[in-house]
Parts: sequence; C-alpha cells; structure tokens
Amino acid sequence: MKVTEHLAQAKKPIISLEILPPTKGKSVESIFNLLDPFREFSPAFVNVTYHRAEQVFKRRADGSFERAEIRKRPGTVGICAAIMQRYGVDAVPHLICGGFSKEETENALIDLHYLGVKNVLALRGDAAGNEKFFVPHPKGHHFAKDLVDQIVALNSGHYQEDDIIDGFKTDFCIGVAGYPEKHFESPNLETDLHYLKQKIDGGASYITTQMFFDNKHFYAFQKSAKDFGIQAPIIPGLKPVTNKRQLTVIPSIFHVEIPSDLSKALMEAKTEAACDQIGTEWLVAQCKDLLAKEVPILHFYTLGKPHVVYNALKQLF
Ligand code: FAD
Repeated sequence: MKVTEHLAQAKKPIISLEILPPTKGKSVESIFNLLDPFREFSPAFVNVTYHRAEQVFKRRADGSFERAEIRKRPGTVGICAAIMQRYGVDAVPHLICGGFSKEETENALIDLHYLGVKNVLALRGDAAGNEKFFVPHPKGHHFAKDLVDQIVALNSGHYQEDDIIDGFKTDFCIGVAGYPEKHFESPNLETDLHYLKQKIDGGASYITTQMFFDNKHFYAFQKSAKDFGIQAPIIPGLKPVTNKRQLTVIPSIFHVEIPSDLSKALMEAKTEAACDQIGTEWLVAQCKDLLAKEVPILHFYTLGKPHVVYNALKQLF
C-alpha cells in the first residue's frame, strides 16, 4: 500500500519506523532482530535509508595509501524486499541524488517496481565526507526536486533511454523531506518552504520531517507550510536523545535544537540507564502531545537505541 493510502485509511494513530541497512559484512538478521519486537505495534511501514559511497584510504603492501570509494551500507533495495516478505509490511526505500547517476537511480527504481515496492522517499543527500558542499554526480541530480521529476517521469513511462517507447508506467508514491527548523543551507524558512512546495507541486505526495525535540517547531512548520499553500500531509520524525554525546553530535549533524530542559536533565544524569529513562520520558511526552493534537502518525528514527523507541511505544499504545 502507498503511504498516502495508509494515512487516508487510518482509523487510529499509526506508527512507522526508520532503519539503516547494516554495514557491509553484517547479516540481515541484525535488521530482523531490531524489527521483530516492534511487530506488536503493527507499524504501517518501514523506511530504509540509502547511502552513497564514501572515500577511504587503503594501505598498500608497500605502506603507501590509495584512495578508494566504498559503499559501506549497500542493500536498501534488498532489505526492503526482505522486510515486505518477512513481515508483510510496506517498505519505503530512500533514494538520494548524491553519488548516483540518473541511470543508476532508474535501475534501482526498476528493481523496486519488480519487487512490488510502492513508495519512495526522494532526497538530495548530504555532501560527501571529503567535500565541503554538496556536489552532484556528473550524470545525476542536483536537488531532490530533480529526483522527484525523474520518478514522476517513470510513473508516466518515460525512461532515461529515449528509444524506450511505450515504457511500463511505474506507480510510486513519492515522499520528500521537510525541515521544521529549516534546512541548514537555506537562508531562511521561507526560501526552504518555496523549494519544499516545488517538490510537492512537482509530484510528491507527503512530507516526512527532520527530527525535532520541541513540538513547537513542528506545529509552527505545519502552519507555515499550510500558509504557503502546501497541502500535503506532514509526518513528524521523532528520535530519542539518550546520551550526553548526542547533545553535541545531533545539532552538528542534523542542525536541530535540543531544548535546555532536556540537555540539562541529561547532563545531570549519573548512569546510562538514567539517560535512557530521560530520553524515553521526553519522547513519550512529545508523542502524547502530538497525539493529543490529532497528529495521525508518528515516525520513529530507530538508529542507536531501538529499545528506547520500543519502551516509549509500550507506554503509548
Ligand atoms: P533538497 O530538497 O534538494 O534541498 C536541499 C537544499 O537546497 C535546501 O536548503 C533547499 O532549500 C535548497 N534547494 C532546493 N531546491 C533548490 C533549488 N532549485 N535552487 C536552490 N536551492 C534549492 N540522507 C541520506 O544520505 N540518506 C538517507 O536515506 C536520508 N534520509 C533522510 C530522511 C529524512 C526524513 C530527512 C529529513 C533527511 C534524510 N537524509 C538522508 C538527509 C538529507 O539527504 C539531507 O538533509 C540533505 O542535506 C537535503 O536533502 P533534501 O532532500 O531535503 O534536499
């Protein structure tokens, strides 16, 4: 089922999860071990992130180094198929522009279509580790909107090769990212909303947000998006903060604010268990507030400590 259908048909609040493919060399069992406990909450769908190759330096036998490109987390398409087969739950693969040519993206979309995957979250991706700013693949896309255009074209049967006439029409439901605290490269929220609207007007059907730890950012974003003429459903992205290190890591990677009450409580916590408890309570409070405001879906980033998300869900449902 498409994400939009899940949203339209939900009679009570639904949840969705986001996972990362395992690093190369690990088994798919690590994904099953993570997801199995969540079965009791019947997630409507599971998002699987997409990762570009990273540049690494490998030591040669003579002690010198050579530069190599390695995809440390391949397998998004396969994991999506494995999730759908094992759990009968819809999978939402992410696709990114960075590091991929249009043809590679098209081939991934064809594989997904053959596997019966109905959804895609279309993203730009971040700059590569060795680049200061995002640099598009020479044969790829610059912005998520361009990727949305490609998927919309495929949904109309238009393939990258001109000589494919009467191509099969895929039927992907396209989601895109939104940023309640604005995307860090954007000069202001208004400019960011302008480009978000382009993605929706271009054919995306819903928005999943960057994580936020103060619901006021989400509500303000909902309102601003609406005022801007963006009607698409907005799915709130939620992540527990459960250790002191995250207080600096999360803002520097994701460019979001951590409220002072939360950071103060974590700084004062004496044990890991106490940090988990604080993170769980904060997440539960955020979710209760969102549910009280009739937000129909909660999307959880499970990276790091899935048991904290599990414990929060246990208290909520
Ligand atoms: P875009 O929508 O292309 O926007 C990027 C920036 O460019 C914004 O500042 C925007 O305002 C601006 N912009 C957009 N269009 C134009 C234009 N035409 N001209 C000028 N400026 C423009 N990353 C991964 O690598 N893999 C993942 O699986 C992944 N999953 C994610 C899931 C979610 C829910 C979110 C919120 C993020 C995810 N990311 C992932 C990170 C994401 O790729 C980065 O945040 C990236 O920096 C921006 O992606 P985007 O799709 O929002 O880009």
